[in-house]
Amino acid sequence: MIAFDFDYYKPSSLSEAVGTYQLADQAGKQAIFYAGGTEFITFARTNKKRADVVIDIKGIPECMMLEVIGDELIIGAAVSLTTIVESNLFPLLGETVQRIADHTSRNKITIGGNLNSHFIYREGILPFLLVNAKGMIAGKGKEKILPLDQILNGGLAKGELLVQIHVDQSYTNLPFSTIKRTRMSKVGYPIVTVAALEKDNQIRTAFSGICEFPFRSDEIEKLLNDLSLTQEERVIQAIALLPGPVVQDIHASTAYRLFVLKNVLTDTLNAMEANK
Ligand SMILES: Cc1cc2nc3c(=O)[nH]c(=O)nc-3n(C[C@H](O)[C@H](O)[C@H](O)COP(=O)(O)OP(=O)(O)OC[C@H]3O[C@@H](n4cnc5c(N)ncnc54)[C@H](O)[C@@H]3O)c2cc1C
Repeated sequence: MIAFDFDYYKPSSLSEAVGTYQLADQAGKQAIFYAGGTEFITFARTNKKRADVVIDIKGIPECMMLEVIGDELIIGAAVSLTTIVESNLFPLLGETVQRIADHTSRNKITIGGNLNSHFIYREGILPFLLVNAKGMIAGKGKEKILPLDQILNGGLAKGELLVQIHVDQSYTNLPFSTIKRTRMSKVGYPIVTVAALEKDNQIRTAFSGICEFPFRSDEIEKLLNDLSLTQEERVIQAIALLPGPVVQDIHASTAYRLFVLKNVLTDTLNAMEANK
């Protein structure tokens, strides 16, 4: 049960959604955008999150799009993970999000909800980092299209809504690997997830679970592609370049995470070699 009352809106346009947020804000009310709702409901039930106004974005056509237009794949922020998997329009994305939660939850969890999650994992962003995806955001004024990593690293400004993710379609069928290791079962938060893609003979890699944030690193990729080193040297030296402290929590100690990362990176390089 949720122990507080809130007003629920389901706008049918971007301007209505953003306008509803602004009106609530001006009235001193706390508003949130709501997509799959799984995170909001979990936190609201335990009083870790409150809202006076909940704005459901699933009635907005732009947020529900999933199609190729010209040479771009457009993915609406309110598209569910299951729909993305079943579409097979971007196999690396499909295989990566297929390991998030269980099937019933994936029917509700949306890609925009995953990217804006308060949890540290946000595994859905890894394929987008590898293909330099862009994001469309709506807020005050006209909609903007910016690099997705810039949007998510800086965080959306108050009242801004992630509308869509845009991917250059030529990247969607490149050779890839995506490997997730959890503590026990197939379903669970990652100890380590590594997604990789090969473009112009260069391997790109993105990581979740290892640091407090998902990331892609130029320095790590430079090392992993340095064929003057042995595979083991590349993996060990790449791990020394992590961009932040390694997570230590109930799922895994820092030492165990590093051990798993070494194995997953080795498996990733082998898988990418086998793709050739
Ligand atoms: C059983 C279970 C297992 C999970 N396992 C994993 C896992 O293995 N890996 C992983 O990465 N995650 C995992 N998650 C986390 C999940 O991906 C996030 O909680 C995600 O936020 C849920 O998406 P949603 O659409 O339900 O979000 P919602 O609850 O609707 O929203 C979550 C947050 O994002 C904001 N938001 C949503 N859409 C937008 C938008 N378009 N623009 C701006 N802000 C927006 C909301 O305001 C809210 O703050 C798991 C969740 C569950 C329930």
